[in-house]
Amino acid sequence: MKVLKFGGTSVGSAERIKNVAKLVVERGKNIVVLSAMSGTTNTLVEISDYLYKHNIDGAKETINILENKYFATIHDLFSAEADREAATTEIKACFNYIRSFTKDLFTIFEEKEILAQGELMSTALMNIYMHSIGVKSVIIPALDYVRTDKNGEPDTQYIKQKLTALLEKYADAEVFITQGYICRNAYGEIDNLQRGGSDYSASLIGAAICAEEIEIWTDIDGMHNNDPRFVEGTTPVDELHFEEAAELAYFGAKILHPTCVLPAKLNNIPVRLLNTMCPEAKGTLIHNTSGKGTIKAIAAKDNITAIKIKSGRMLLAYGFLRKVFEIFETYKTPIDMIATSEVGVSVTIDSEKNLDPILDDLKKFGTVTIDRDMVIICVVGDLEWHNTGIEALALEAIKEVPVRMISYGGSNYNVSFLVKKEDKVRTLNLLSDHIFKKTK
Ligand code: ADP
Ligand code: ASP
Ligand code: MG
Repeated sequence: MKVLKFGGTSVGSAERIKNVAKLVVERGKNIVVLSAMSGTTNTLVEISDYLYKHNIDGAKETINILENKYFATIHDLFSAEADREAATTEIKACFNYIRSFTKDLFTIFEEKEILAQGELMSTALMNIYMHSIGVKSVIIPALDYVRTDKNGEPDTQYIKQKLTALLEKYADAEVFITQGYICRNAYGEIDNLQRGGSDYSASLIGAAICAEEIEIWTDIDGMHNNDPRFVEGTTPVDELHFEEAAELAYFGAKILHPTCVLPAKLNNIPVRLLNTMCPEAKGTLIHNTSGKGTIKAIAAKDNITAIKIKSGRMLLAYGFLRKVFEIFETYKTPIDMIATSEVGVSVTIDSEKNLDPILDDLKKFGTVTIDRDMVIICVVGDLEWHNTGIEALALEAIKEVPVRMISYGGSNYNVSFLVKKEDKVRTLNLLSDHIFKKTK
């Protein structure tokens, strides 16, 4: 059995839901993981914001607009009155639930309950549509088997046990449909796996059932060799190693959520990125092997802050780096890039949430300077250090761009450059022009 995950755009209209249903039916008995219809989760966040701010009119108006979109989808999706009625009842129940929060004070857990409605609605519509075309599909509710533990990490044993039992219970089903993104926490409350987390759901489910393959269906024909939002003429990469995919996802290739790679990799389950709008396209296969000695793709991660700590005391001293890292650990702030010299160290972080106390503590050890609005440009491929000339190729490409930091050798799979936000698009394009045109 495979896991087929369809993102928001893939189920973003009645027409698309019909296309997905056709694709799913052609592929036989699998588990289908759905995101919310595109735009829904953003609108649910907006509604929650209005509720936090006690702007009840704003919340009600936004709820009504979203509800009407769903009614229009139902109208386009179904022709039989009974199906329209069944779908309307499901959708109305979700919106009435959301509306119930306009009456009382609002809390953090209620926001999660509101956000969960998006995936509950897309799966309900798909299931009713499947039945309307004569397919015996069954919804396996994610809230009944996807659970996180007290550290907020997925409880993989629980997921495996519960999901296996549910699949056995509905053994006669022709297709299983489940929600991406949503889960319960260790206390049974409704929670989620963070924005874009449906990819993670698919990977966790794939791992739980030891799936033959995890297919991530989206609006583009696989992982492209550069970010198509900023570079023209990018092309899909046929194959990636799990590690290469992990680097790209972490450093900004939005097509894949960074958390998605690990469960698949640990269980050696291939992940295939495919295009709903062009199902015959080959896409990208992510697995345990991949082409040697070449650069595969480039990605960019925004909103990076670089911090430099200069200290005379670092000269010939040991224990300095540990003290610096401990400060970041204390404030639960992960470091992305590091560069060291005999008199200083530079690190980058992607969250300024605890920047002030971090800077206060760092100042005890040296002179601290920061550069904000930076971007990490990550060049990914099989960059094992015996392969000469690969880093040179990347550096040569961007020789006219001011580079604040360089990182290479942390893994065999990437070389990263820290540049200013305003140089991001130019850097991505220079790299594409130089690397992919030259190596063609
Ligand atoms: P979904 O809603 O299906 O999860 P996403 O919007 O999360 O889809 O991811 C698909 C988008 O990722 C594409 O439309 C594309 O703009 C963006 N993207 C960014 N970098 C890349 C890349 N290297 N290759 C392919 N797509 C990318
Ligand atoms: N619907 C959620 C979001 O928009 C999860 C997902 O699409 O993966 O973030
Ligand atoms: Mg996504």
